[in-house]
Amino acid sequence: MPTEQSSLARAPWHVTVLTIFPEMFPGPLGASLVGTALAGGLWRLSAVNIREFGLGRHRQVDDTPAGGGAGMVMRPDVLGTAIDHADATTPGLKRIFLSPRGAPLTQAKVKELAQGPGVMLLAGRFEGVDQRLIDARQLEEISIGDYVLSGGEIAAMVLIDACVRLLPGVLGADASLEEESFESGLLEYPQYTKPREWEGRRVPDILVSGDHQKVATWRRAEAERLTAERRPDLLRTAKPPNRDP
Ligand code: SAM
Repeated sequence: MPTEQSSLARAPWHVTVLTIFPEMFPGPLGASLVGTALAGGLWRLSAVNIREFGLGRHRQVDDTPAGGGAGMVMRPDVLGTAIDHADATTPGLKRIFLSPRGAPLTQAKVKELAQGPGVMLLAGRFEGVDQRLIDARQLEEISIGDYVLSGGEIAAMVLIDACVRLLPGVLGADASLEEESFESGLLEYPQYTKPREWEGRRVPDILVSGDHQKVATWRRAEAERLTAERRPDLLRTAKPPNRDP
């Protein structure tokens, strides 16, 4: 639930998704923490059906690619009208096109977006979107990974989920966010819970020693070891350890 302070401090984070499948929303975003936050008014969601701005009796939103080739391309005139309508309804949102050609989505980008007023997300379909629309409406292109999805809706959900969990009041303990993967530029250390021994495997003794400094040192070393093994590229920009208790 929102604290009095957080609800006074800012309007709910707003997401407008432009899609030809508005019925896909909120979908999984209606469940668990993110869904509770939506129901509690910590963020707002508008799913706009691009077909409402489509042409003719069939509400056409796409056409054949200039220069030939397979598939269809989403028309700039239809999308331009849809974006302008969304802009007028909820001004000031960051305009993003989910695209495999975009900059990779990172935790740093997620944090930046979560700190703003919200996002307008264009979910592409078919072969993609006319380049003139991307240029004219200054859409920032963001990719969720080096693979091709059939549409941008699931990519939009990934971005929304990652942002919403950072909004004030959505997660209980803010401290748990600080130690997560990518926060210090490293992957997270291994986690353990009870029982102390399971199928012959013990929780590392240091974690039950009660010595907080030793626990912190062990966690940092494990985070560095895992990052070196799995994502050595991250080590170049990792933050130095926090020496505070
Ligand atoms: N022809 C495009 C290409 O080769 O880059 C792929 C188009 S894809 C079938 C249809 C839509 O899915 C894209 O316009 C985009 O909105 C979305 N999409 C696919 N993969 C994505 C990814 N990795 N990240 C973000 N959005 C993606």
